[in-house]
Amino acid sequence: MSPDPEASPLLRAIAERAGAADHREGDVAADVAALHQSGWLAACLPQAAGGSGWGSEPDGTLAAFDALRALGRSNLSVARLYEGHMNAVKLVSLYAADDLREESFAAVRAGALFGVWGADDPACPLTLPDNGALVLSGAKRFASGLGVVRHVVVTAKDQLLLVPADDGARADPSAWTMAGMRATRSGRYDFTGLAIPPRAMLGSAGDYYREPFFEGGVWRYCAAHLGGAEALHAAMCETLAGLGRIHDPHQQDRIAASAIALETARLWLLRAATEVEAKGAQPHKAALSLFAREVTENSCRTVIGAVERALGMAAHVEGSAIERMRRDLALFLCQAAPDAKRARAVGTLLEAGVRIEQL
Ligand SMILES: Cc1cc2nc3c(=O)[nH]c(=O)nc-3n(C[C@H](O)[C@H](O)[C@H](O)COP(=O)(O)OP(=O)(O)OC[C@H]3O[C@@H](n4cnc5c(N)ncnc54)[C@H](O)[C@@H]3O)c2cc1C
Repeated sequence: MSPDPEASPLLRAIAERAGAADHREGDVAADVAALHQSGWLAACLPQAAGGSGWGSEPDGTLAAFDALRALGRSNLSVARLYEGHMNAVKLVSLYAADDLREESFAAVRAGALFGVWGADDPACPLTLPDNGALVLSGAKRFASGLGVVRHVVVTAKDQLLLVPADDGARADPSAWTMAGMRATRSGRYDFTGLAIPPRAMLGSAGDYYREPFFEGGVWRYCAAHLGGAEALHAAMCETLAGLGRIHDPHQQDRIAASAIALETARLWLLRAATEVEAKGAQPHKAALSLFAREVTENSCRTVIGAVERALGMAAHVEGSAIERMRRDLALFLCQAAPDAKRARAVGTLLEAGVRIEQL
């Protein structure tokens, strides 16, 4: 299966619902159900489990890249949730014990959306007690998909766990006061008192940070960023054409800068995704994703700037699609700790002592 971004009724419907979902109680349940019905949730599973290996097998890399980009064009919030699902399926695939993996994959085939919640509430990070009891305490913040995701991969210090995330009483969406990505239904989720079975442990302590799977996987959310920027670029061109300004040389400067930025990011991301996801890829390949992240962020900021200057106040009209996409993309680009990621990429490059094309 391969996503057909331009012709897909699924993507058109998600794009059409994006405006209505742009508030804190925004309902993306219809989008998640549509992703299930179209086979996109199950497509992330390995082929042996009935999927297409999107994000979980080398053969599925290009289709995963296209899917994330296409969803980013339709609705960045839905793309964010889908990327978390793809990431969670990969982590389960890599690290879960056989019975938990089978059970989780069956849940995905039945329509369950998965997620990854790594960011701890600084006041009470998620922990397992030292006495060996399997009862969680603490909370996650910036947790996307409250009320929508069914199971999440979480970190408790260095240990990955797969836990249920469907208890509304534990969720606090009011903690998400961001101006963008409102429809992600993000917020705080308190796991305190939740007992988990021993098989909820995924792999061993520290596995989450194994490369090239951890930072190497950054290409996935960057593909969504790129899709968002592509949608903004298209909206800019359409608006300029509608105003009869598309042939103005100043506007064409902006169109050129924005188009070049998009293609630069696409080429970098394609290289990163294919090399990181290749069978037997070495840990240092993760740096390609980190460099591609840097390129993607800069490219997206170029596009946002071009759109704002090309359209003036029209880029800021509340309730318009352009204003929503601009706001969503600007926030989504914050993900995550960009200075640290750049430093890590540079460190790998210097340590390897090669030209960047040889990384
Ligand atoms: C739309 C959206 C959805 C999200 N969903 C999830 C989710 O489902 N699960 C999840 O776990 N997380 C999620 N996150 C959170 C994300 O993973 C990061 O935790 C979050 O982006 C941190 O953002 P921040 O800007 O506050 O901080 P940071 O990314 O840490 O950084 C802000 C700035 O400070 C700099 N900085 C950071 N540390 C230092 C330092 N020590 N010294 C100097 N400068 C520093 C950074 O480089 C950057 O310039 C989401 C984020 C977004 C935007």
